Amino acid sequence: MDKMEGSFAVEDMQNVQINIGAVVKEVEEWDQPMGPFPYPSIATLRDWDFKIMNRYKVFYSPICDRCTLCTYGPCDLTGNKRGACGIDQAAQQGRIVLIAVLMGCTAHAAHGRHLYHWCLDKFGDLPFKMGDEILVDAPLVRTIAGIKPKTLKDFGPVLNYVEEQVSQLLACTHTGQEGNYVDFESKALHAGMLDSLGKEVSDLIQIVAYDMPRGDEDAPLVECGMGTLDKNKAILITYGHNLAGSAEAMFYAEDNKLWDKVDIGGVCCTAIDNTRICEGIGHPDKEFNDKYRMVGTKAKIAGAIGWWRKMVRGDCMDCIMVDEQCVWTDAIVDAEKYKIPLIATNEKIMLGLPDRTNDPVDEIVDDLVNFRMPGVVVLDPVKAGEVGIKTAIAVKPKRAEIREADPFISEEEFKKYAESCTYCHSCQFVCPPHIKIGDVVRAAAEGNLEPLSSTYEICVGCRRCEQVCPQEIPILSLYAYANRDYIRNQKFKMRAGRGPIKDTEIRRVGAPLVLGTIPGVIAIIGCGNYPNGTKECYDIAREFVDRGFIVAATGCMAMDMSLYTDAEGKTIWEQFPGGFDGRNICNVGSCVSNAHLHGAGIKVATIFAGRNERANYDDIADYILSKVGACGVAWGAYSQKAASIATGFNRLGVPAVVQSHSVMYRRAFLGRTDKKEDWEIIDARDGSKVYCEPAPEHMLYVAESVEECMLMMAKLCFRPSDNNSGRMIKLTHYCDISMKYFGCMPPDWPIYVRHASDLPLKWKEDMLKELESKYGWEIDWKRKAILSGPIRKSDVSFDPTNIERKIRTKK
Ligand code: SF4
Ligand code: SF4
Ligand code: SF4
Repeated sequence: MDKMEGSFAVEDMQNVQINIGAVVKEVEEWDQPMGPFPYPSIATLRDWDFKIMNRYKVFYSPICDRCTLCTYGPCDLTGNKRGACGIDQAAQQGRIVLIAVLMGCTAHAAHGRHLYHWCLDKFGDLPFKMGDEILVDAPLVRTIAGIKPKTLKDFGPVLNYVEEQVSQLLACTHTGQEGNYVDFESKALHAGMLDSLGKEVSDLIQIVAYDMPRGDEDAPLVECGMGTLDKNKAILITYGHNLAGSAEAMFYAEDNKLWDKVDIGGVCCTAIDNTRICEGIGHPDKEFNDKYRMVGTKAKIAGAIGWWRKMVRGDCMDCIMVDEQCVWTDAIVDAEKYKIPLIATNEKIMLGLPDRTNDPVDEIVDDLVNFRMPGVVVLDPVKAGEVGIKTAIAVKPKRAEIREADPFISEEEFKKYAESCTYCHSCQFVCPPHIKIGDVVRAAAEGNLEPLSSTYEICVGCRRCEQVCPQEIPILSLYAYANRDYIRNQKFKMRAGRGPIKDTEIRRVGAPLVLGTIPGVIAIIGCGNYPNGTKECYDIAREFVDRGFIVAATGCMAMDMSLYTDAEGKTIWEQFPGGFDGRNICNVGSCVSNAHLHGAGIKVATIFAGRNERANYDDIADYILSKVGACGVAWGAYSQKAASIATGFNRLGVPAVVQSHSVMYRRAFLGRTDKKEDWEIIDARDGSKVYCEPAPEHMLYVAESVEECMLMMAKLCFRPSDNNSGRMIKLTHYCDISMKYFGCMPPDWPIYVRHASDLPLKWKEDMLKELESKYGWEIDWKRKAILSGPIRKSDVSFDPTNIERKIRTKK
């Protein structure tokens, strides 16, 4: 039916059925016109993706040459062979990458969807306010959806959009759909962008609903480490990423004044989110605000994901509540074995347990405390929280009795197990960090526990060694026994997640970042499940914060880097301020808070450079790629979520470095410096094409060592827009890191020199000599000026872009 305009009186009508469609809201107060791409669909930003991939070539490292995804298979895809459906190896790899990125994306978006329903149920529709210093308040929602949310309900259509796109993208992986690897990668980049959007929605909902810090650089320091859990109390561990049930346990402890009887420790991102509750600008519900103000500081961070099995073997818990994401699926096996009742609180993880959601609390607690069942499902967060606290308190004495009769591991057992080792080395072959476990166990049998102590931190707790040991030696239990003092004393401080970057901070750092005088933003994301990952993520953070970069961390890596101190016993959070500024380190929050780092990039473009972000994704991404020196690192990431996080950063123009085991992700985006045509950039002033230095050189790079990682990160912060002083600072750090860790200059330093004032002061003379003698550049020695040689001349007004519509006046 055609639309009718004008006014109608209802009494004039007879036998009329009236269908009211969506009620159009009043016109939004937003001075920005709608951009070109609101709610982009799969193909909308394909041109932008192709621009990225034309410069950063897709490089695959297949784990498997066969496909078994449909019953035509198995198909051999080696060489130039194609599967029965016609797919070739490259497209198959692209398909697997897309599936992995979708897994990560759905984990975050489904988390947001659960919080959306739960928070609306619990708190009603709250106003969406981020405080006076954050006016660009949902940068990804604005840039992708083109809307400005005013209340929590406004995030509903955004989640609908993500879910619809995910459904379309997953359909593309069915046999007989997409068949080209570049298009699979474009779809993966789309999924990465959706992932960033889902994360932003998740975190903004919980920030508002639970009154978490909104850009607070002085967010409280909270307790972190297994030793912070008080063994004199019952210990409830909440494990996963979704705080709904865990927060209710905290509220129950607060309401019933039980904190002297119970400690609540979190594992993985639930840990970080517990410690953010009610530390913000004040909850709009006054009663809630008064009751729970700063309750987050009472929760403890037990540890990151890699410490889970060490905590179980270290006897660090009386009761477990699991929610969603990155929960080891054998948690219930351990729970049963060690008599630790488990409560599953989210539909995504139910572990075959009975659903007791509708049963009375005391009956559930009685069954758990008397070990009639190892665990239960309780999907009502309020009830789950109460069950968790009551069970932990009631089961603690029972578990103590059991432990007395059957301790976790006694001295005699320790000796017996250690002496039973046949030194077959089966364990060593499967150990990801290549610990020489046989040697370590043999030393223990001889009474030397030092190797068990010195390798404890390197162990990522995967339990593969135990699974292959023919003697069935519980190697993690040997570790726990030998390190019981360390476990007791593992106590550190971590800054609670601060949430988004404030507009005022962006105003302060925008110019120095774009000109390069703040050499870059280092985003430390993902988990440190890599040999030495925990220590090395601290080393990476320390290296760059010391050098004046802006360092931001999230999730498990923020927790892991808290385990190290300087000579004064201070953790990195105590050593440096928590602002978004040079020589600062901020803990933005949990996995979903990663979105605020995308948001910071968007805000540089919109607040500092005045670009319209509204439904204008490729323009903003182009600005970030060309002008904002930033680089992410996932040093030990294992999950599909890390794949989607990195891919989302890549679509927004932010490169990332990952550790060598991440070659398992199968795909890198690598620049080819030998291909001149790949590095042509448009000058937006007149549309001319300029051959630029490769800045940044790669989009997704796998580093072999932490030293190579740091060198590459410094390099990936170069941008075409750097002014001379900024380029000089970036080149200084790049060369200095190379000298520090490799004892020589990086071989490609000359390609980043455009002008003599780009040269680091301390090497200027020598560099000019080398440019003349080795590379044949013409030098005017009187003026110490470069006359010829560089890839391009430095030009302070150069306005680099990759998008034709940004050209202001065509030549
Ligand atoms: S999806 Fe294609 S390549 Fe894979 S098993 Fe089926 S026919 Fe073979
Ligand atoms: S549990 Fe630790 S020691 Fe055993 S294989 Fe895994 S990393 Fe190696
Ligand atoms: S697999 Fe078991 S028996 Fe073999 S070396 Fe390792 S710990 Fe010893």
